[in-house]
Amino acid sequence: MSVSTLATARTLCAPLPVLGRDVTVPLVTGGEVAYAALDYAASAPALQRVWDDVAAYAPYYGSVHRGAGYLSQLSTDLFENARRTVTEFLDCRPDDQLIFTRSTTDSLNLLAAALPAGCQVFVFETEHHASLLPWKDARVTFLDAPRSPRQAVETLERALAERDPHGPALVCVTGASNVTGELWPVRELAAAAHAHGARIVLDAAQLAPHHPVSVRDLDVDWIAFSGHKLYAPFGCGVLAGRADWLVEADPYLAGGGASRKVTRREDGGVDVEWHESAARHEAGSPNVIGAYSIASACKALTEAGFDGLVAREEHLIAKVRAGLADVPEVRILSLFGDDAPRVGVISFVVEGWNSSHFAAALSAEYGIGVRDGLFCAHPLVRTLLGGDPQTQGECGAPEAAPGEKSLNAIRVSFGAGT
Ligand code: PLP
Repeated sequence: MSVSTLATARTLCAPLPVLGRDVTVPLVTGGEVAYAALDYAASAPALQRVWDDVAAYAPYYGSVHRGAGYLSQLSTDLFENARRTVTEFLDCRPDDQLIFTRSTTDSLNLLAAALPAGCQVFVFETEHHASLLPWKDARVTFLDAPRSPRQAVETLERALAERDPHGPALVCVTGASNVTGELWPVRELAAAAHAHGARIVLDAAQLAPHHPVSVRDLDVDWIAFSGHKLYAPFGCGVLAGRADWLVEADPYLAGGGASRKVTRREDGGVDVEWHESAARHEAGSPNVIGAYSIASACKALTEAGFDGLVAREEHLIAKVRAGLADVPEVRILSLFGDDAPRVGVISFVVEGWNSSHFAAALSAEYGIGVRDGLFCAHPLVRTLLGGDPQTQGECGAPEAAPGEKSLNAIRVSFGAGT
């Protein structure tokens, strides 16, 4: 590593170590360092309160909806209470359904599998692949990257105006970008969707950990998020919203728990009556610890109050952006411009540098863990870098020649607890 690179890395690091989750790790250069994990957008560390709640419940868990035994009853209560807690956290409408899934990706694939016949889907090319790709059985219109929130609404309105007004349609949009951290105009996009007879699903994977989200207030039809980004452990996510498409669809997974009655027919086959509740799409033994830990995180966030979290995060965002702005070689990636409201997710490139090498240096030499690559949003990173990003994997793009623009990007992200 050259001297100028080290100097750049040092300048970059200066504001960072105080921000991340600190864990002590050995350094390749010898000794130990408090390692700052600034990768909350990938997975946020679970809150201590969540671990404490899970540890208190762990000796008692049993299978949900599976019997009269004490532990099964207790687990069923906790699972259904978790559903109520998360429903309240999201401020859902009284007749909405909340389904526990594995993740945001799983939630959006579930909704994709429940689309009515002939449904047309509208999605911005800037979305995370979890929002961009699940709609493979539908007619999908990919919308060009907007350069302002207003342009996003106008682009959507234009596309919706051209659609067949009689068929069903769905808009899928993120609340906060996992690349730029920028907030999207969800309420306005929802109004545009509804004005054209379409429905809208909000990918809140990056929004929900940073801002209070109200399904009613935003007027979105569905919302999806992941527990592991909302300060709970891996393995559980949520899809919540309108029941009708979900009840009319085949179960996402066929199996026990989803079926109310199964009978053998005289011709040798079986007839199945499926549940019409959330259980229809929750076949198999539910992830009760996952649901319980999401509910615990929701309670912790509600009790802490988002006002303080948002204020602290805005302070950190300003601090990191100011630190990065001091380095002339750094370019922060943005679709909507410097003044756009954003969450604590900041991506940048360092001129003349391969981002993967730069991120490796931050980790190995300074004990700072960041994400590098294309962030599962290849079309967006391509637009932001103004070129063809390497697509042979999320990390490990080949080194840019000296003076050449970076082929991928670096991301720092933080949240509650930093
Ligand atoms: N949507 C956004 C905006 C994300 O940032 C991510 C993950 O980074 C996802 C969806 C997918 O989340 P998961 O991997 O938990 O399914």
